[in-house]
Amino acid sequence: MTTSAGPAGTEGLPAALLLLGRDSDLSSERGVECPGELPSPSDPDLVERARAARAALGERAFVLGHHYQRDEVIAFADVAGDSFKLAQEAAARPEAEYVVFCGVHFMAESADVLTADTQQVVIPDLAAGCSMADMATLEQVEDAWEVLVEAGVAEDVVPVSYMNSSAAIKAFTGRHGGTICTSSNARSALDWAFGSRPAGSAKVLFLPDQHLGRNTAVLELGLSLDDCVVFDPHRPGGGLTGRQLRDARMILWRGHCSVHGRFTAANVADVRSRIPDVNVLVHPECRHEVVTAADLVGSTEFIISALDAAAPGSAWAIGTELNLVRRLATRHPDKRIVYLDRTVCFCSTMNRIDLPHLVWSLEQLVAGRVVNRITVRPDVAGWARAALDRMLALPKTR
Ligand code: SF4
Repeated sequence: MTTSAGPAGTEGLPAALLLLGRDSDLSSERGVECPGELPSPSDPDLVERARAARAALGERAFVLGHHYQRDEVIAFADVAGDSFKLAQEAAARPEAEYVVFCGVHFMAESADVLTADTQQVVIPDLAAGCSMADMATLEQVEDAWEVLVEAGVAEDVVPVSYMNSSAAIKAFTGRHGGTICTSSNARSALDWAFGSRPAGSAKVLFLPDQHLGRNTAVLELGLSLDDCVVFDPHRPGGGLTGRQLRDARMILWRGHCSVHGRFTAANVADVRSRIPDVNVLVHPECRHEVVTAADLVGSTEFIISALDAAAPGSAWAIGTELNLVRRLATRHPDKRIVYLDRTVCFCSTMNRIDLPHLVWSLEQLVAGRVVNRITVRPDVAGWARAALDRMLALPKTR
């Protein structure tokens, strides 16, 4: 599948999520069915088949597993990490002919942008998208830029796009002189963006996660909530007046993560009442009220290191994806590690990739058939790469 954006003629499709795995919208990564014969989930030989296919591919394949993947998939990952670490790991393995990306679609796109042309990136299930990335389409963002032009502020605006965005949005960012950021370096990205214009004049258009943008601007750069406005792509003019756009320092896109956005300040109060001396540690994709009620906030990699370094016997409530929290609880039996919300929630799109899909994609590669390949058009990839390269020059914060 050629993406980003998407196969020719699909640009600007409405972002509404289709039912995953249902229907057959072949022009979208969402809602597609597996184009092959999947092994049955109850096949008792699945693990052995995965081992055999992996061994047969040897160094010709490199399997990446995002931290939010299921244990049964992570077990076959050559490396586990967050989205950016995985893209870098893929780029560092030029000898691998196939990069099997067990994560979601935008991550596979970034891997394709950063790897050599000779490498082919495969995602075991094309329906593994990201609801947050889907909240900002290229057409919507181009329209928003027109609004900024009409308000007379576009020259002062620097786009900063979260890694969790399509390659088309990354390319938009590169074309307009902006940078990509991760949850580990969002502060550095904002510092760079605000410093790239004469003092006090810069504004940032932060895409597509309003929460990461707001939390970083307010808690790490010291901006006020009043410095931030939310641009709603579903309302005329983003739902903002020209005056609001001119006064704002941070123009936050109205997007969010459907997993991290579920946590509430009431969850924090509840866990504190249940577990004495609990440390509440949340991801910056959580809402501002949650982040301010927590004890610590940080990226996936920060959460992992904080728990590695935590004292035996300490108690932790973690506000991030459930597969990772469960794995951390297993890894640290000497610490009490619980999910922040009593109602547990996986990332449903990450979970699309399971052992049957992994076995199927590996066995197809063994048979010489490249399935579910993700490629980014060269013109899109060039600008996306420019924005990613700008990020690579930023210092890591956390
Ligand atoms: S956890 Fe949130 S941001 Fe990450 S892939 Fe799932 S929906 Fe997207």
